[in-house]
Formats: sequence, C-alpha cells, structure tokens
Amino acid sequence: MICNECGAMVSELDNGHLLACSGLTLQEYALRHVLPLDLLVSPDRIKTDTAQADLPLMPVAVPDETARAVLAGLRLAGKVHDAGPLCFVEGEVSWLDLLFCDLAQLAPYGFRFRQEYHYAPGSHRVVARNRLVTQKRNLVGPWLPARVPPPEQYLKYAVYLAHAAELHAGFLFLPFASDDEADEAAEFLSRELDVNTRPLAAGTPLLRTLTRADATRLLDRLRSQLESMPGVWPRFHPDTPEITVSKEVVFDSAHFLTDHPARCSNLHGGRYVLHVKVRGQVDPVTGCVLDYGYLKRVVNARVVERFDHHTLNYAGPELAWRSTTEMLSMHIWEQLIDFLPGLTELTLYETPQSWCQYSGPDLETWQRQGSQPLLGRFTDPALGHSPWRHPLRTLDERYATPQARCD
Ligand SMILES: [Zn+2]
Repeated sequence: MICNECGAMVSELDNGHLLACSGLTLQEYALRHVLPLDLLVSPDRIKTDTAQADLPLMPVAVPDETARAVLAGLRLAGKVHDAGPLCFVEGEVSWLDLLFCDLAQLAPYGFRFRQEYHYAPGSHRVVARNRLVTQKRNLVGPWLPARVPPPEQYLKYAVYLAHAAELHAGFLFLPFASDDEADEAAEFLSRELDVNTRPLAAGTPLLRTLTRADATRLLDRLRSQLESMPGVWPRFHPDTPEITVSKEVVFDSAHFLTDHPARCSNLHGGRYVLHVKVRGQVDPVTGCVLDYGYLKRVVNARVVERFDHHTLNYAGPELAWRSTTEMLSMHIWEQLIDFLPGLTELTLYETPQSWCQYSGPDLETWQRQGSQPLLGRFTDPALGHSPWRHPLRTLDERYATPQARCD
C-alpha cells in the first residue's frame, strides 16, 4: 500500500514507518486520512493482551525525584492500571504528546509506548489503545532505595491536575479514588497553595474549588509545572467556542397545592419533563462542554431519584406548602448548581401545555446568598415569632382554664 504521508510503497503501515516518515502514530494517520483501522491493521497484529517479552527488566535506573512525582501524580489521577504482570498508563489519541511527556519522565521505571489494536466485538471494529507499559515489578522492586522522601508534592499535584481535573464554568472539579486521597489533597491545597475546595456528595469522592478565584489561584501556583506539560495550560485556558448543552429527563410525581382555589388543591399525578441547560467552552481534549453521561448522572441522582414516583409535597420541606413548577424549578436549581456551575436555564413542563423557565443565581452568588427564602418559608426559625402572634397568646391565656395552663 502507499503511505499517504510520504508516498512510499510499503507492505504494511506501522508505527515504525509512520513515526519515521511523519511523526504520526497509525491511529493518528487513520484519523487524518479518514481510514478505518480495520483496513490498516492486518489480523495478525490484533492483540488480545500486551506482550511483555520486549519490556525491559529492572533496574534501568534509580527513579529520581521527578520520576517518582510523575508516577505518584498519575496514580492519584487513577491512570496507573494493573494487568497481570504488567502495569500500564493509558492515554487519549487527542493528547498523545502528554503521554509521551509522561514517558520521558517515567523512563527510569522502564515504561515503553505501545499502540495496541483490539477487535471490539460490541462495535464490530478494530480500536486502538495507547499505553505506556512496564513490568509491574519495576515499580516495586527491591532495587528501589529503602528510604525515599515523599515525591515532590507540587509536581505530583500538577501531574494529577493535568490528567484528572476538569474545568467547568471557571471551577475545577477534582475526582479521587478514595476519601483519604480527597482529604489529603484538600488539606495540601489549602495549606500549601491557599486554595479552598468543597467536597461534593457525588457517590464517588469529588472536590470542587470553592470559587473561581480558587481555581485560578490553583492553576497559577502550579503554572511552571503545568506549562512544562504539553497542552495542559491551554486546556485550562481554552480559546474555544461557548456552547449550550441540554439534557431532558422525565419523572412521574403526584402533588397538590395547599389553599389553591381550583382543582390543583386535589392530589393528582402527572409526568414532569425537565430540560437542563449548561453552557461552557468546549474542552479541547474531549471535544465536549460536559460529558452528557455526567450531566445525566447528576440530574438523575439529585432530581429524578428524589421525585420520581413520589408526592412532591412530601419529598422535602421546600415543596411541602406549594409544589408549583415555579417552586420546584427554584429547588431543582439549588440541587444542581453545585455540580453544574455552567447551569444557565431550567425548563420544567408539568403538562405539555404548561411549563416554566427559570435562570437562578450563579454558583458564587448562591454560595454567598444561601437558599431562596421562599423555599424555606416553613422551616424559617423566625416563623411563629412575629409580634402579630402576641394577641393570639393573650387570647389563649384569657380563655384557658387554669388546669390547661402548663406554665
Ligand atoms: Zn510514509
């Protein structure tokens, strides 16, 4: 076949040829020339697992401070995986330079780059995986110094940010594998970098910078480390278009309106349709403003699971008095804004003919002001203490029989 990059006739295109002639991997070549990998990879190159024969066995070199910090950052980011006797770090084709930058730093551990081709039975096509692979024993072997100081923390957290953090509407979201790691990170960021974070109840450990200023400060404090990694600084300062993404969910609920003069005072049910709109810049690495899966998980966990097949008035004190679409929208906004700082609008249909639209306060304003007072009318501690109630007490006292008085 002919190489579309250099015009040479080759028996088969592989990374050996392509990296020499164009600097591209085969997967990048396939994307550039719009060719399915199925046509480029012969069946005998399709892998079922990673070959370890040509991977070096240690010791290559004693890992220096940088190598240890990069490995620790990748581990914290959940990017280091075990597969039998091997260990690998996986990267995205949109960002192979970052993987190659990791590779350069991790050299003492004996990592090698592999682009492996697998047949994905579900999608009926050949897919590529980009990995840095080493022998697992190279990461733990007795050749490592017995006592080493902890890896350089600033670089470790910069590597973590580069591989795991996501920027939404100016806030950084930081996922962790365990509560201990999240606690340690929150403590380090606060103590060393003066960055405040807030843990979010997301099912898995997740921190968010408390404010946009905290996100900016975090990036600025680690700027030199982040700038040393390809594409990282621009990813967190994107120059990409702003786009609004929307998700529609439905839930079936019953409700009634207290003191309503018409039929809505009766308990009745219906199918609610909620449209959630989130605006943000396109992430240059993922090509998304926000993962629709994340959006769906958040809305399901915070809204649908709470209200579906429930009576709205008994789902929480915010809606006990009046579960109108307006009250419900304000309440849903407060359920979502912590997780979706790019939230711009909610549209809530009670019936196909009746709906409301709501744009509430942005995250920082909401954090400053607190919950919408209307939602807390019946939980407000001041309720019952107005001077207008004093005559009622006097009346009670006047007509109470001595036995009934409890003071
Ligand atoms: Zn070529």
